[in-house]
Amino acid sequence: MSSPQRAVSLTTPELPRKAVLQAVGRTIDEWGSRNLRALPWRDTRDPWHILVAEVALQQTQAPRVAERYASLTSALSSPTATVELGKGGVIALWSGLGYNARAVRLHAAAEAIVERFSGVVPSSNDDLRSLPGIGPYTAAAIEAFAFERDVAVYDTNVARVMARAVLGAPTTATHGWQVVSAMVPAGSGWSFNQAIIDVGATLCTARNPQCDACPLRRRCAWKRSGALIDPALSTAGTSRPQGRFEGSARQARGRVVERLRQGSATFRQLHDVTGWEDEAKVRAIVVALIDEGLITRHAANYSLG
Ligand code: SF4
Repeated sequence: MSSPQRAVSLTTPELPRKAVLQAVGRTIDEWGSRNLRALPWRDTRDPWHILVAEVALQQTQAPRVAERYASLTSALSSPTATVELGKGGVIALWSGLGYNARAVRLHAAAEAIVERFSGVVPSSNDDLRSLPGIGPYTAAAIEAFAFERDVAVYDTNVARVMARAVLGAPTTATHGWQVVSAMVPAGSGWSFNQAIIDVGATLCTARNPQCDACPLRRRCAWKRSGALIDPALSTAGTSRPQGRFEGSARQARGRVVERLRQGSATFRQLHDVTGWEDEAKVRAIVVALIDEGLITRHAANYSLG
């Protein structure tokens, strides 16, 4: 990308005209008709399988989730099968995806669907958002990708495209979502949302945007402004660099859960896998994992679930 050269304005961006937004929406949708990535959850409209994929995609890169999609949806074929597998079974299955608390929430969502919706994933936004672990983004994604509704999905990729291409300025999640909602071409909610996610994931990337290949290059507000500062940097909803992983509590927590995937263990065995000297710090992690429902204690032994 040739970097724009002037500083970006930090004033609140105005909503572009509806006709402009609709034209941008059609451009993105048309690009998607030729360029969508082949991702396995795009071949189904099964709301539960899409929910499983979306929960996995919350904090894991799409290629990694794609590798695991078949095994996940085979073992978690329905909300009922997920409940029957048990919380510990879902946590064990989540190996390699990271952020294991999502497995706990996924199992809780399956329980809620079985108990409150007779095992059928609900289709209304309110009902979806009443499920454990399903926030506004995931609810909209299920509406768009399973039920093909003309609602906008607003994830980190979309937020970046909004700030750069459409507004040319930092924006809030509420405003950015409002803008993209006006861009969804009628009857194309599924394809438009898949396309804008791919523009953000494959072209308008955080570090090295591929402007020459971008379908928005002629209208991109940031590119046209010549601004030096990337408006996506201070836009709500865009991803931030994570802190150091080596030696972190996140790493130690992951090691404890990974050890328990092999079978139950004593505190001493859990302490050993963390690589930490400080026993009090390990105890704090173990207590937190119990509080979060990831592990349980039976006498001197700990296990998943
Ligand atoms: S929207 Fe397209 S043209 Fe604009 S910064 Fe992103 S990749 Fe470049």
